[in-house]
Amino acid sequence: MSSYVNDLMATVKAKNPAEPEFHQAVHEVAESLAVVLDRHPEYRKAKILDRIIEPERLIMFRVPWMDDQGEIQVNRGFRIEMNSAIGPYKGGLRFHPSVNLGILKFLAFEQVFKNSLTTLPMGGGKGGSDFDPKGKSDYEVMRFCQAFMSELFRHIGPNTDVPAGDIGVGGREIGFMFGQYRKLRNEFTGVLTGKGLNWGGSLIRPEATGYGAVYFAAEMLSTRSQTLQGKTCLVSGSGNVAQYTIEKINQLGGKAVTASDSGGYVHDPEGIDSKKLEFLMDLKNVRRGRIKEYADKFKGATYSPIDPKMDFNPLWNHKADCAFPSATQNEINGKDAQNLLKNGVFVVSEGANMPTTPDGVKLFIDQKILYGPGKAANAGGVATSGLEMSQNSMRYGWTRDEVDNRLHLIMKSIHKACVDAANRFGTPGNYVNGANIAGFLKVADAMMDQGLV
Ligand code: NDP
Repeated sequence: MSSYVNDLMATVKAKNPAEPEFHQAVHEVAESLAVVLDRHPEYRKAKILDRIIEPERLIMFRVPWMDDQGEIQVNRGFRIEMNSAIGPYKGGLRFHPSVNLGILKFLAFEQVFKNSLTTLPMGGGKGGSDFDPKGKSDYEVMRFCQAFMSELFRHIGPNTDVPAGDIGVGGREIGFMFGQYRKLRNEFTGVLTGKGLNWGGSLIRPEATGYGAVYFAAEMLSTRSQTLQGKTCLVSGSGNVAQYTIEKINQLGGKAVTASDSGGYVHDPEGIDSKKLEFLMDLKNVRRGRIKEYADKFKGATYSPIDPKMDFNPLWNHKADCAFPSATQNEINGKDAQNLLKNGVFVVSEGANMPTTPDGVKLFIDQKILYGPGKAANAGGVATSGLEMSQNSMRYGWTRDEVDNRLHLIMKSIHKACVDAANRFGTPGNYVNGANIAGFLKVADAMMDQGLV
C-alpha cells in the first residue's frame, strides 16, 4: 500500500475510534484507489478521498416513545449525510439493535460509490436506529416510526435527502414514517422510497435488490459463457433481499437450497421452489415467524440453530456453485470463504452490504472466482429507488416490465463499468477494484468541478 493510503488510514482510525466496520470499508476502498491516486495527482492534491471519508453532515437524535405497557422507551436515531456531489443524499434506514455510528458510517460511505455506479444522480447517505422491531406490536412500531420521523423530517426532503428501507425497515415502517412526514410538512412528495404502490411507490422496488444481485451474477457468469441454469445456490437471510434473490434464481433456472435468520438456517436439497417461497414470504412478512418453521413444514429440509461457539457458519459449507449472502455485514469470514471454495462455489454475488470479511475477500480474489462486491451487486435496490424518485417527479408510474427492464439494463451497465475500470487500472477480473474505482471517479470529478465546498 502507498504511504499516502497508510497515512490516510492512520488518520481515519485516530479520528474515528471504535468504528471497526467504517475502518474496514475505508481500507478496502483506499487500497483499490491507490493506483488511481498515483495516476491522478490532481485528486490527491485536492484531497478528494480525505473529503469523501468525512461525512458532509452527521445527525444524531433522541427518539422517545411509549410501549404497549405504558413504559417510556428511549432509542437513538441517526442520519449520516455522506456526500451530495452528484445528487440528493440517498440510502436506507436500518432498525436493528446492533446499529451504531460506525456501522451507519460504513454503510453511508459504501452508498456513495454504489449510487455513483447506478448511473443515476444520487448522493450517498444512511441512517437508522438501535430500535428492534422484532417482537413489537404494529402499534409500537407505528409509535416508534412517528417519533423517529418527528425529528428526521426537518433534515430530509425530496431534493435534499431521500431515505429508504434496509434491515428492519420494510413497507410497514416506510408507511408509518411517510404518514408522519406528510402530516408534519403538509405536503405529499417523494421523500421516501419503498412506498406502497397506491401512494407513490414503484413496481419492482421490493424485488429490486434481490433481482439485481442475481442479474449481476448472471452477467459475471456470461463472461465465462455460462448461465444460472442448473446452478445450486446458497442464500443467507430470509428478509427482503433473500426472498427476491431466491425468486429470481428460480426464474433463471437455478436452485436455491438455503435460507436463514438470526436464529439459524434451513437446508433444503430439493430447492426452495415457488410454492415453498410463498410459505417463506408469508412466514416472514405476514406472520413474522422464525425460519425454523420452514423445516417443520417441508420434509427433507433440515434446520440448524446458530452455535455462537463455532468459528464458521455451516450454511456456507454445502456443495454449490453460487453464493448470495443476503443477511448482514461480515457474515462470511475467512474460514467460510475457504469452505465455499472447497465446496465448488465459484460465483459470489453480495446482496448484503460488506458481508465478506477482508480475509475472505482476499481469498476470492486470489482464487479468481467471480466475486461481485455488494456495492456493485446489490445496487439494483437503490437504482430502483432512483427510478421511484423519477416516477414521483413526473407524477407517473411505469409498468412492471418497464421498471424491470430498466433495472436489468442498469445492472448490465454497472457490471460493464466494473469490468472496464478494472481493466483500465491493471487488475482485470477484479470487481472490487472495478466498483471502487468506477464509483469514485464520477464523484471525484463532480467534487473537482464544484470547488472546495
Ligand atoms: P431484512 O430486515 O428484510 O432481512 C434481514 C435478514 O437478515 C433477516 O433474515 C435477518 O434475520 C437476517 N439478519 C439480520 N441481521 C443479522 C445478524 N446480525 N445475524 C444473522 N442474521 C441477520 O433486511 P434486507 O433484506 O433489506 O437487508 C439484508 C442485507 O441487504 C443488509 O446487509 C442490507 O444492508 C442489504 N441491502 C438491502 C437493500 C434493500 O433494498 N433492502 C439494498 C441494498 C443492500 P432476523 O429476522 O432474525 O434478524
